[in-house]
Formats: sequence, structure tokens, C-alpha cells
Amino acid sequence: MISLAEARGLDATDPLRGFRDRFHLPDDIIYLDGNSLGPLPLAARDAVRATVHGEWGNGLIRSWNDADWIGAPARVGAKLARLIGAAPGEAVVADSTSVDLFKLIVAALRLRPDRPVVLTEVGNFPTDLYVAEGAVRCVTGARLHTVEPEAVEAAIDAETAVVVLTHVHYKTARRRDMKRLTALAHATGALVVWDLSHSVGAIPLDLKDADADFAVGCGYKFLNGGPGAPAFMFAAERLHPSLASPISGWMGHAEPFAFSDAWRPAAGIERLLAGTPPILGLAALEAGVDLMLDADMATIAAKSAQLFDVFKGLMDERLAGRGFTCISPVDAAERGSHIAFSHPNGFAIMQALIARGVIGDYRRPDILRFGLTPLYLSYADVWRAVDLLAEIMASEAWRTEAPEPQGGSVT
Ligand SMILES: *Cc1c(COP(=O)(O)O)cnc(C)c1O
Repeated sequence: MISLAEARGLDATDPLRGFRDRFHLPDDIIYLDGNSLGPLPLAARDAVRATVHGEWGNGLIRSWNDADWIGAPARVGAKLARLIGAAPGEAVVADSTSVDLFKLIVAALRLRPDRPVVLTEVGNFPTDLYVAEGAVRCVTGARLHTVEPEAVEAAIDAETAVVVLTHVHYKTARRRDMKRLTALAHATGALVVWDLSHSVGAIPLDLKDADADFAVGCGYKFLNGGPGAPAFMFAAERLHPSLASPISGWMGHAEPFAFSDAWRPAAGIERLLAGTPPILGLAALEAGVDLMLDADMATIAAKSAQLFDVFKGLMDERLAGRGFTCISPVDAAERGSHIAFSHPNGFAIMQALIARGVIGDYRRPDILRFGLTPLYLSYADVWRAVDLLAEIMASEAWRTEAPEPQGGSVT
């Protein structure tokens, strides 16, 4: 078991230790929820201020050109492409993950008109299931087929138009083998839409190497783009010419300012855009993406793996027999960047932790989730978090927490 002094020793030689100062983080908080809402990069705060005062306040409508507001979705998309192993013209920022997922599922169905099935898995992120359900209702003859996670591969067949999967599972952190599954789908003629919400900024990604078709991902988690940050879409260049978004808005038009009556899609990835981009949200997201690009993804992944091992090692030693079961894969190559435990009193335990400044989150029915975000989390943070958890369990302080509300809570 690692001591606090040893944890501090790891921090002293951590190649990422300088990044913490680039975030606004309250001193009395250990933040283990960056997988749900990333903290505030100082550069994002400054970028939003500059965008509000200079570009909106003084530049007014001229900023669409002078500050390149109009180019922001593609510009930030091109930066993001570097984080996912895509070409600059293969990613664009727009709307929310839910909306982008809808656009890509319908677009994929239309690329495979002779195949009716959208295949996904039981226990996928709720919005992914709901959106898939809504998308098939918009395409004549299409239907949703939802199978157990282990049954996905065998269920891909000649009826499958598109497989919709989350790359890193939001509860367990289990990582899918993107390359293998994509090859399997392609072998039968199916397409795949990957949801990278818990992958981007968390683990190295290489969509080109995986020969990926489509992907979506979230801007406000590991990318630290701010609450409700716009999401992104990836579409492989080879698919662009035949790609048709179901939301054929003017920002996806070949000439948005020609004001013609008929819709004509833009040549490239911009054809997936719909309406006017949210410039303030894009300003914050761009700062988050820039910050992430300053760090080396392999270094981030290596530290994430070690944070996990330290966390799990301390849990195994200090909380043995206390009812916690680690439900995340122990092999770093098979998971994302959080660690999850099930515990029958998970809700109350997490409330007790949060009340004492250690912020993780709880997912029904019994899961405690802790984000391991190498840019601003230290080994000493992890040590103190487990130390506090050990204290809460030993003193049974969690018993005084209010019971779980029936409606659930947003975190
Ligand atoms: C966070 C997350 C989303 C979020 O979707 P929104 O449209 O931003 O609410 C979607 N899918 C997955 C897998 C996520 O983890």
C-alpha cells in the first residue's frame, strides 16, 4: 500500500504536474467528477470574457467575419480531430451529443436503405437509447434492435444498417475494441456510430486506424468545455459525398448566404451543421481543446492508469470487507478514465464524501463513480479521497445522510 509521502513523491516527478495551475479549482475540494463536468480552465474563463466584451460587445455583427465566428464549428472541429486521430476536415462542432447522434443515425440509415436495423446494447447511455428509438421512427421500415452487451458482435448481420455503441461505458468504464468491432461490422456491410463522450480527452484515440465511419462526443466532460458545451461529430471523408443530414439547416448549405430556396449540402463535413453556432459555448470549448492539445495523450493515459492502480490498491487494502466491489476492468487497455465501485449504500456514502469535499458521483442502482483526470488530479488527491472514504466507513458517518430521492438527481 502506498503512503501519503509516497503519493507526494509520485506527484513531484509527474510530467503533467504543471497543468493543475491552468484550472480554477477550489482549494478545499478534491474533484473526482471531471468525467461528468470538467472544471473551468482559466483560459476558457478568459476566452469567454474576451468573446463577450470584445467580439460581441464591441465587434457586434462584424465579428462573424472579423473574429471568424462563422468558421468556429470547423475550426474547433479541426483541432478536435487531432485528439481523435482524424483528418482536420473530418470533425465539426455543433449542437449537443443527443442531437448529433440523431443526425448521424438517420444519415447512416439512409446510406443503407436496404437494411432496416439499428443495433445497440442494453444499458447504453440513456440518451443514446432514446435517440436511437426516435431516429428509427423517422425512417420508414427502420427498427431498433437492443441486445445484451456480450451479444452485440453475433447480432451484426445482413439486416444491420448501423451499430450504435458507446466506446467507454459511463458506468463501468469498460472500453470497446473499436477497430475490431468496426471491422466486424464492415465485413457484413454495416456502419458504426461510436459515442466517444467518455473517451475523448481521456484515452488515446485513432479513428483513422480503426477505419471508423461516424462518431459523436461530448464537449463538457474530459474536454473541459463548460456546462452544456457543444458536442462534435466525426464522419470519415470517404462518406461525405453521400451523407445527408436529416436536419438540413442553412449552416449545412453549400452557400448559406446565397439565400436560395432549395437546399444544397456543403461539400465537406459542414453539411452536418444545422443552425447558427453557439459562439460563447464554442469559445470555452476551444480553450478546453487547446489545453488538452498541449498535453501528450499517451502521458495522460499512463498517469490515468497509475491513478487507477493507486486508487484500487488503496481501496483493496483499506476498505477490504466494507462491501465495495470494483466493477471497472483492471486491465488499463480495456477501460476509460474512471473507476467505479458498487456498494449497497452507494448513494449515502457518496453524499457523505461530497459533504466533506470529495466530489465523485453516484449512478443507480448502487454505483460510486470517480473520474481520474490526470491534468489536474494528483496522487495525493487520490490518497486523501480514499483516506476520507475509509474514515466515513469506519465511523459509519454515511448513516446520517438523507435517503436517496425517488426522482434521482443530476450529477
Ligand atoms: C454525457 C453523455 C451524453 C450527453 O448527451 P447530451 O446531449 O450532452 O446531454 C451522451 N452520450 C453519452 C455516452 C454520454 O456519456
